[in-house]
Amino acid sequence: MESFKYTYEQLLTENNELRFQLEEANDTIDAIRSGQVDALVVKGEEGHQLYTLKTADQTYRVFIEKMNEGAVTLNREGIILYSNSRFAAMVNEPLEKVIGVYFDAFIAEVSAGKYKEVIRDGWNNDCKGEILLSSQDGKLTPCLLSCTTLDLDEGTALSLILTDLTTQKETEWELKVKNDQLEEAQNIAERLNNELEDTVRERTADLLISREHFKLLANNIPQMTWTNLPGGEVNFYNQRWFDYTGRRYGETAGWGWQQIVHPDDLQKTMDVYLASLNSGKVFELENRYLRWDNTYRWHLNRAEPLRDDKGEILFWVGTATDIEEQKKQLDLKDEFIGIASHELRTPLTSLKGYLQLIAIYKKEEVPLTVKQYVEKAGSALNKLQRLVNDLLDVSKIHAGRLEYAMAEVNLRELVALTLESAVHLYPEFNFINKSERDFFVDGNGGRLEQVLVNFINNSVKYSTGNKKIIIATERINDKVRVSVTDFGIGLSAGQIEHIFERFYRVEDKKFMTSGLGMGLYISAEIINNHKGDIGVESELGEGATFYFELPLHEK
Ligand code: ADP
Repeated sequence: MESFKYTYEQLLTENNELRFQLEEANDTIDAIRSGQVDALVVKGEEGHQLYTLKTADQTYRVFIEKMNEGAVTLNREGIILYSNSRFAAMVNEPLEKVIGVYFDAFIAEVSAGKYKEVIRDGWNNDCKGEILLSSQDGKLTPCLLSCTTLDLDEGTALSLILTDLTTQKETEWELKVKNDQLEEAQNIAERLNNELEDTVRERTADLLISREHFKLLANNIPQMTWTNLPGGEVNFYNQRWFDYTGRRYGETAGWGWQQIVHPDDLQKTMDVYLASLNSGKVFELENRYLRWDNTYRWHLNRAEPLRDDKGEILFWVGTATDIEEQKKQLDLKDEFIGIASHELRTPLTSLKGYLQLIAIYKKEEVPLTVKQYVEKAGSALNKLQRLVNDLLDVSKIHAGRLEYAMAEVNLRELVALTLESAVHLYPEFNFINKSERDFFVDGNGGRLEQVLVNFINNSVKYSTGNKKIIIATERINDKVRVSVTDFGIGLSAGQIEHIFERFYRVEDKKFMTSGLGMGLYISAEIINNHKGDIGVESELGEGATFYFELPLHEK
């Protein structure tokens, strides 16, 4: 077997030779790059080969050296004959370590196939392909590899231009990410849009149904209905309205309805309507509307506002109910009450006269028991007379005929006088009079006494354990207030609302008293006729203070 053992000297000599060759090679490269040399001798498998750079003039060298792409020339074996510094930088090697090396040493494994394909084709035609360069430290650089054959004196070489695609790839990637995001956003927008369209379609259908519902309902109820805007203009009537009025929409829409309100009711209608529009509170009013046959009929109007989520009024929905028949019935009843109470008064008066005659009968001694019976009959008769008088008053009020003469009245005296009979009538009650000063008003003494008597009678009627009743007369600004305070059952806020209405009585099964609910109604009418105010302050179970206030008489 042949021995390959070298002596130290031999190795030293070989090493020196190699170093010399290396220096020579470096000098050659520098010479080529700087343009001093146009030819190169390369030792290949078939001995030394000479390569000359056909157009190796200075200008092209500078271009190639300075360009941003990597430029490499390969021989048939794939060895790098020439490289610019840019390519060396791309693979992160010094230039001298690149030249003379197989180019595929810088190709990443994944691109090996592609590289071979491009190079193979490149020897026949110009061609391009994307590959990944791999440097010693593992850095991968995506590149576009463009091949062109190059005819040199010593044969054909392959010129490779490598364009770094890193930035382009990054941009492409970012673009792709952005595109994906855009696409996603577009999908979401499209989905939302579809959902919105569905919702709008559903809502439109709902709206249509509810509008039809409303129309159907509005046209089938016996009342006339309307809707009006927050400003008051009417923008809808149901069929009944048109049937009743015999007018077309345009004639009574907006504020046109005023033409068919009875002239005597128009002012009040406008006052109450505008007050409701301003306050947003329920509109309720009785008035007369002109029918197609030129007759007026009484109607009860009611309208309520419809509000949005924020509480703003969108529009009002109103109804007008024909109450002509009820009104007629009520008139008939009032008329009957009027006639009946009037008819009752005459026999009552004579009855009272006869009782008084019996009381003063002196000719024979009347037994004590009979005297007591006569007294009892007298007080029952008084009660009956008060009732009949009240009934007569109510019918007079309704007919607008509650008239009385006015004169100067001293309220201190009036209170004192009324209390005198109250103390006599209800001895078990403790009346406290807080009316020391004179207060003069314009009024009818009899009627004002009637009010005070009504207050006192009620205090007695609706008292509980506490028998104290306070009557006070005091000045409040330019008015005088007369009040009656009891400590009885009291009234709730809901009851107070109706207390001055005709025939209103609190329904309380625990506390049944006699009465027709006329007293306070008549009292309110009397005080109104005196241009005064009537009112009550009370809490349920805490007693009540009923009062009236009248303008002080100017002296
Ligand atoms: P009535 O004849 O029924 O007493 P009024 O018109 O005088 O009629 O009173 C109407 C209603 O007001 C009464 O039924 C009663 O429920 C209530 N009321 C009046 N005064 C008082 C009071 N002092 N305390 C409590 N409730 C009262």
